[in-house]
Amino acid sequence: VRLLRGIELVGSGSLGFSITHPADCHVYLVHDRDDAVLIDSGCGLATEQVISMIMAAGVAPSAVSRVLLTHAHADHAGGAGALVSELGASLYAAPEAARILMEGDEEAAGLLTARANGLYPSEVVLRPTLCEPLSSGEVLRVGGIKISVIDTPGHAAGHLAYLIDTGDNRVLLSGDLVFTRGRVVVLATPDTNIVELASSIRRVSEFRPDALLPGHGSVAIRDARSHLDAALAALARQQLPEAFYP
Ligand SMILES: [Zn+2]
Repeated sequence: VRLLRGIELVGSGSLGFSITHPADCHVYLVHDRDDAVLIDSGCGLATEQVISMIMAAGVAPSAVSRVLLTHAHADHAGGAGALVSELGASLYAAPEAARILMEGDEEAAGLLTARANGLYPSEVVLRPTLCEPLSSGEVLRVGGIKISVIDTPGHAAGHLAYLIDTGDNRVLLSGDLVFTRGRVVVLATPDTNIVELASSIRRVSEFRPDALLPGHGSVAIRDARSHLDAALAALARQQLPEAFYP
């Protein structure tokens, strides 16, 4: 599903557009010329469908050189191991998330608790996978497209957002940091940090993106600012922004 020139939605679950497995986050494909990257991987139970969607976007699976994760929660990272091996791609994440992926640390990823509570099917696992750390401020290139890495802890430790400069648009892929209408997901997990969440939302707002493409729910192709402003207004009142629920 084409969102903007060079950016397609190739996976999405029941909190979004129900394209692939219900437990999948949004999986974005960024492509230009003969290179492509995926942002997030889904939960891993619909990897073949994600690959079919890549092909439907007119991109050869072999063109996907990298998979970049926003964080290590299973709906975003569970599919990483299978995807990188099927695509022959390399995997990247924030240092804390990279460690979780390398070790398949389901406890630190929050997967043990989530699975015990029926949030994910029992088949969702985090298999140990080689993963390279990304540092904040790093700039990756996909053809003529620039992707800047922004450290955004708060929803989870080791959370990254990606600012994509397509030439026409500045596009914020915010993962689970902030959703449309400025909503947030605050979990009762040990690595949730509300103070960091607030400062991360302020940090990404300073980049003044045109489009907001979060990890779930609706997307904002233009006027991202008004969505981020809703969160900033709540934070200015020392309140948590509205909760994201389906
Ligand atoms: Zn998450």
